Amino acid sequence: MKKTIKDYDLKGKKVIIRCDYNVPIENGVIKDDSRIKASLKTIRYARKNGAKIILLSHLGRIKTEEDKQKYTLKPVADRLSKLLRKKVTFIDQTRGKKLENAINNMKEKDIILIENTRFEDLNGQKESKNNIQLGKYWASLGDIFINDAFGTIHRIHASNCGLAENLPNGLGLLVENEIKKLTKLIENPKKPYVIILGGSKVSDKIGVIENLINKVDYLLICGGMAFTFLKAAGFNIGDSLLEQDKIAYCKKLLEKHENKIILPIDIITSKEISENAKTNERFLGEIKDDEIGLDIGHKTTEVFKQYLEDSKTIFWNGPAGYFELKPFQNGTKSLLDIISKTKAYSVIGGGDSARAAKEFNYQDKIKHISTGGGASLAFLEGINLKALDLINEK
Ligand code: AMP
Repeated sequence: MKKTIKDYDLKGKKVIIRCDYNVPIENGVIKDDSRIKASLKTIRYARKNGAKIILLSHLGRIKTEEDKQKYTLKPVADRLSKLLRKKVTFIDQTRGKKLENAINNMKEKDIILIENTRFEDLNGQKESKNNIQLGKYWASLGDIFINDAFGTIHRIHASNCGLAENLPNGLGLLVENEIKKLTKLIENPKKPYVIILGGSKVSDKIGVIENLINKVDYLLICGGMAFTFLKAAGFNIGDSLLEQDKIAYCKKLLEKHENKIILPIDIITSKEISENAKTNERFLGEIKDDEIGLDIGHKTTEVFKQYLEDSKTIFWNGPAGYFELKPFQNGTKSLLDIISKTKAYSVIGGGDSARAAKEFNYQDKIKHISTGGGASLAFLEGINLKALDLINEK
């Protein structure tokens, strides 16, 4: 068992907490603050126990000096202050005297948020390449390191691995909860167990498929990735998304697990991807050469429902269609509705499917929505996650 923040006496200690504040910001306005809200529990716990709290996070990718303005964490500090109803001091540096002085002057329960860790990437990708000196420097600012950023648990960065390598450490409450919830999907999941995979690419999902195919009863495939499977099964897919180099893989998988893998039987197609697109509902075999498959059809939803309604465990990653546009939302919405009415232990694996659940107002009707898209897939792939491995055992 990994140590958590609860295993440490925090009183008077400088506690560095790696949060995931990689939130959408447009013109300085935060568009979705759920990741900020998700971090409050750990911060409140640390305050209650008398810690001096130093928060850090990355935001976006920093490739040029101009990116710095767009990706400053200042708006996050302001939102955090409002949500906590406590002052959060923002330090517009990732290193240096100003930061060090601010930390040295902290009192118990004070909170500091330092500037976007990826500002360090401008000079040799120090953050993203886990520069040894940077990890050591950040560690020198605190006494204990807490990793509460599930969204980057599959990354090897100075702000997670570098810090964990150089300080006594533990998990934050958010990461502890994510691990608890996701572990239920790999250790003795209740059966029938159904996985839905959608989104754009087969290649992103191969690791999960390989690790879970023998644990699940059914694998329902939808989204853009369904078309490589349909092509492999011998159907014309028109102008739909295709990963040519994955056809052979899909073919093999279909042969090996023909009773487990459930493909769409009808498709919403269009000649264009736009808000006013004219759509057709086509059975397999009817898709025209100049049509793009952009959502699953009603008959597919009915078939998927039969598998989902009796299931006891459901994991879903990747939308069923091009859900950003109205004409292609129905499949994703319908699946959310079906899942929300089952009694199954249902988990949505972050990313776009989590965004869809929020946008269509199903976030409270799903048992768990992960805060990490790539991270939850990596966790379910069962690969070694260094940022997690480095956390001390109890
Ligand atoms: P991913 O990041 O792999 O989970 O993919 C999510 C993206 O897949 C979303 O932006 C969806 O719009 C897109 N998507 C889902 N279904 C389709 C489809 N049939 N054709 C093209 N893109 C799709």
